[in-house]
Amino acid sequence: MLFRSTRDPRNQADFKTTIFKGLASDGGLYFPLSQPDLSLLYSSLTADTPFNEMASQITFQLLKDEISASQAETICNHAFSFLPKITQLSPRLSVLELYHGPSAAFKDFGASFLAAAMEAFLQKEQSQAIILTATSGDTGSAVARAFYRKKNIDVLILYPSGRVSPLQEKQLTTLGGNIHALEVHGSFDDCQHLVKSAFTHPRLSTRFRLTSANSINVGRLLPQSFYYTWAWARLKAQYGERNLLFTVPSGNFGNLTACVFAKTWGMQCGPLLAATNRNKVVPDFLESGIYSPRPSVFTPSNAMDVGAPSNFERLLQLYPDAAAMRQAITAYWFDDEATLNEIKSVYERYRYFVCPHTAVGLLASEAWLQAHPDSPVHAVSLSTAHPAKFTEIVQQATGIVPPLPPQLADVQNKPKQATPIDNTLDDLEAFLNAHF
Ligand SMILES: *Cc1c(COP(=O)(O)O)cnc(C)c1O
Repeated sequence: MLFRSTRDPRNQADFKTTIFKGLASDGGLYFPLSQPDLSLLYSSLTADTPFNEMASQITFQLLKDEISASQAETICNHAFSFLPKITQLSPRLSVLELYHGPSAAFKDFGASFLAAAMEAFLQKEQSQAIILTATSGDTGSAVARAFYRKKNIDVLILYPSGRVSPLQEKQLTTLGGNIHALEVHGSFDDCQHLVKSAFTHPRLSTRFRLTSANSINVGRLLPQSFYYTWAWARLKAQYGERNLLFTVPSGNFGNLTACVFAKTWGMQCGPLLAATNRNKVVPDFLESGIYSPRPSVFTPSNAMDVGAPSNFERLLQLYPDAAAMRQAITAYWFDDEATLNEIKSVYERYRYFVCPHTAVGLLASEAWLQAHPDSPVHAVSLSTAHPAKFTEIVQQATGIVPPLPPQLADVQNKPKQATPIDNTLDDLEAFLNAHF
């Protein structure tokens, strides 16, 4: 599979190059040069196809110009030691739980695949790389865990001081070793901007082999398509493939873009819903046709507090204007109060804990189902993080403390190790010079 920049289509690269470059040199995002047809492979999948077998087959089909079938299998087996899970809440609604990985959030799928792929390429050519990543909370911990102790790789995680949950901060800052946490005095958008500037800065990008692990990296986007296909294969016989609707709680819109890829490559399914919090740039665009990125605002679903979603540029490649995008994506947004009420209401109705991001998605799923009472559609609402990652909020909403999974419990008592920096490229450069 070849990729081209969203800004200049002549700017092309293979998979290996794109995963290490992250951003194209013109500042654009990599996007598949042409869209493969995987419909035969997809239709061969059944409810019993194991996740890793499916993932290896898709990986090989996508990347067969660069890797062998057995390499695809090795990468997937190294990456996916955990699985998604489907929990049915009601006859028309299921939750696709994506939080059973090492950092208890869906980003584990993309980060683990990217880490396994990068380590494989780097070990082969015996070279080193530095990963630079900005996080509003969850990306960072998924990346930290995925790359921890990976050979030939160091990771710098930039996170906005005081804007991630205490548990998220523990997850980002307690590993040590090849994982370096930088606490930035600024917002998530500032962190993301710093990372983008470093990549396009001539001196920095020449002196260090900098690479990204954000949702902008195609090495994370491609594997995020796998769990849609897996859930679709498991449920299609029961409900009919075109009756499966997916709802994606969205911030940078990477997760949603991955679903769009799966659909483009031949996964025949029903409507696709994007759900956001008050950071509703995309819902506003679909309504008004005007795209106006703005500073992010703080909400209980803070991993979706994004004022300028980076993957919007990719979505525009497939859907050049609001009318086209509206055909493919229905967007909903909900305020903080609705989100907290939904956490409470879902618990009361189903005795089921959800994180605030998952709650925003469930609100959208339920709004759609209510508006289509006679439709045969079954909604699959993505659960993006374990509820215990947002204990304070879940407790505030339900009055009950959700149980902590073991992979989160063990970071609680470890000491924080983070370097504070100002929101300037100079400070970032100073850190790089001092350590590498
Ligand atoms: C990152 C994240 C999201 C948003 O995903 P995008 O791909 O950025 O749209 C939603 N929920 C959680 C828990 C996240 O960590």
